[in-house]
Amino acid sequence: MSKLVIISNRVASAAEGKRSAGGLAVGVLDALKRQDGLWFGWSGKVEEEADNEVAFHRIGRIDCATTGLSRKEYDDYYRGFSNGTLWPAFHYRIDLSRYDKREYAGYLAVNERMARLLQPLVDPDDRLWVHDYHMIPFARACRRLGMRNRIGFFLHIPFPAEGVLRTIPPNRDLVQAMCDYDLLGFQTRGDARCFLDYATRHLGLPLENGSVLRCANGHGVRVGHYPIGILPEDIQEQAGSNRGAHLVATLKEGLQERKLVISVDRLDYSKGMVERFNAYERLLESVPSHRGKVSLLQIAPSSRSDVEGYRHIRRQLESTAGHINARWTELSWTPIRYMNRTYERAELLSLFRASQVGFVTPLRDGMNLVAKEYVAAQDEEDPGALVLSEFAGAADELSDGAIIVNPYDLDAMARALDRALGMPLAERKERHGVMLRGLREHSIREWRDRFLADLDRPSADARPT
Ligand code: ADP
Repeated sequence: MSKLVIISNRVASAAEGKRSAGGLAVGVLDALKRQDGLWFGWSGKVEEEADNEVAFHRIGRIDCATTGLSRKEYDDYYRGFSNGTLWPAFHYRIDLSRYDKREYAGYLAVNERMARLLQPLVDPDDRLWVHDYHMIPFARACRRLGMRNRIGFFLHIPFPAEGVLRTIPPNRDLVQAMCDYDLLGFQTRGDARCFLDYATRHLGLPLENGSVLRCANGHGVRVGHYPIGILPEDIQEQAGSNRGAHLVATLKEGLQERKLVISVDRLDYSKGMVERFNAYERLLESVPSHRGKVSLLQIAPSSRSDVEGYRHIRRQLESTAGHINARWTELSWTPIRYMNRTYERAELLSLFRASQVGFVTPLRDGMNLVAKEYVAAQDEEDPGALVLSEFAGAADELSDGAIIVNPYDLDAMARALDRALGMPLAERKERHGVMLRGLREHSIREWRDRFLADLDRPSADARPT
């Protein structure tokens, strides 16, 4: 029987399989839970020299195969081109994106080495599903090795508008490399449209039947949008379990009846945390009745701390939180609690459930699973309200129930918080019900099934032999 092979930059270790901070890991694990397959990628280890060894482990029923990266590969491929060039530019931070052609060469070389290591593990009728911006040229590397499997690619982060993409010097090569897939999936319709705009207008490639891009080599690539989902029942069950009870009890003791606004993000400049803190302060300034009556809990485990830009945001956030707390704290009240740590999933979900407002305001985000998890974790009889950035992919699906805000507009965010904090129960229930129904209809299983069904569809092309 043919198997499904998932390829992503990072494969979770057996221990991380249980506890993991990262949308992709959560998504892949949920999607593969009921399906035989192989998960292939980097082990997370950095060695002096790459040894081309492949190690195997299992997470539940899932077979995993991993390899290490050399120090130079890590610097060029991971820290350099993936997270120093692509990540900031794809999140519209061209001020933080920098380009070094040696890093790009390293990025291409790692994709080629990974493809060579994977090749012996793949049978001709296996389907390959490649994930995210680290692996854009992976299919091209496979094709060069003669692999003719069906290969799909899903981009978890936004795909930028043409003018932004073109600031990355090898933009044309990257998009041309995407033509070696059979299916390209994006989080939102807007992302897919940006890709097609670039490919049709800038590269002059024809689009057939609205969704198949005819590439220069004659190959047809299907393009679509597949918003990644969650498993709402699973989350509801965990949030309602007593695994987080101890934490919630401690939290409530500290809050003393105050309302809780919660935000949870990896510490990343795309998440809009500084703007969020400032908007919260604007609320305290403009609506005095909230002073001493509300608390903001920001949980933000640090990430990619060896990549430029991340140390800066960390310092900026510490100083903003420090400044706001210094100005407003009273003997019995601290306005912002800011923590750099991760929690077990069930604990985190219980904290979501114990809060009155989820405050999710990225400046740009492919999807933002936290927003969806926040909704699913609520008590249906007394749900919290969600304030959500219009620039999170999740806003496309949650706009009927969330209060949608522009994260650059501090006054609008302060007004939205005020509204969320005072929202009557009936309105909260109605909004929550609408969002939860949507999340149930478009779960992560549906996401996986729809992507794989489209990967199987003949894309009206004969791959030239
Ligand atoms: P990203 O993929 O950019 O990190 P997402 O919001 O899409 O953002 O996904 C983040 C995932 O990581 C979510 O599933 C969330 O529950 C999890 N997560 C984020 N912060 C923490 C934390 N402090 N502790 C545990 N899990 C976390």
